[in-house]
Amino acid sequence: MQQPSLHTARIQHIQKLTETVYEFTFSFLDITSMQFQAGQYGTVIIDGVTRRQYSFCSNPRETSTVQMVIDTKPMGPGSKYFLSKKVGDAIQMLAPLGVFTMTPSLRKKILIATGTGIAPLKAMILDAPHDIPMVLYWGLRHEEDIYWQDELDAFVASYSNFSYHLILSKPKETWKGKIGHVTDYVTKEPDLSQADFYLCGNKEMIRYIKQLLLAHTVLGEQIKTELF
Ligand SMILES: Cc1cc2nc3c(=O)[nH]c(=O)nc-3n(C[C@H](O)[C@H](O)[C@H](O)COP(=O)(O)OP(=O)(O)OC[C@H]3O[C@@H](n4cnc5c(N)ncnc54)[C@H](O)[C@@H]3O)c2cc1C
Repeated sequence: MQQPSLHTARIQHIQKLTETVYEFTFSFLDITSMQFQAGQYGTVIIDGVTRRQYSFCSNPRETSTVQMVIDTKPMGPGSKYFLSKKVGDAIQMLAPLGVFTMTPSLRKKILIATGTGIAPLKAMILDAPHDIPMVLYWGLRHEEDIYWQDELDAFVASYSNFSYHLILSKPKETWKGKIGHVTDYVTKEPDLSQADFYLCGNKEMIRYIKQLLLAHTVLGEQIKTELF
């Protein structure tokens, strides 16, 4: 794996996914490829002292470009920085960083995300072997917050080991899918103690699910977390 160092990345493409979420595609000006492990992230230098972390959401086997998905809802320095950027602009990024990566095992993988916590999990879904069962639980608020559903559906169609559940906490009355929070559904999975867990998103979700899993005799070493 590549050692973390400071790179200059050029914005190749920007796609608006929701009212506040954007997918950025970058190529690198100083290296030909970014070797990273699914689940890792880059630290973007916003200015001399301000830095923000964003996970790579693209397939780690396609290394000439990388993608990040950025929610600008917080509207702090990171959000404003990316909202001001256009295709062709260069940014500085320290990468690859992080230890939120998949542990090789034959155990079922249960991936749990809230919001843009889906980002590193998408890289894991793209990269993981297709013979081990893998299920994703993704919690969002409204129908308008959903993105990448076509890609997730295509994955379900291509790979029989993969399934996913979208859970909305504040859907319209017409929503036919799951309602509530990921925390309401995860423990309904069979054989929890036989699975590996990858949790990414807000602090409350991670703390609550970790407690639930430990109470269901899942070992700490089977649970990996990344807090956004
Ligand atoms: C390892 C790691 C990976 C990350 N990967 C991603 C990623 O792939 N995509 C992504 O969008 N973000 C990711 N984040 C979060 C990101 O680094 C920033 O913290 C986030 O974008 C907010 O930055 P900001 O400067 O716009 O707002 P800040 O100045 O950090 O925050 C502004 C205000 O918004 C609140 N706030 C911060 N985050 C959120 C949130 N998610 N929802 C609601 N309110 C919030 C803060 O408490 C504060 O009050 C990651 C964080 C870490 C630690």
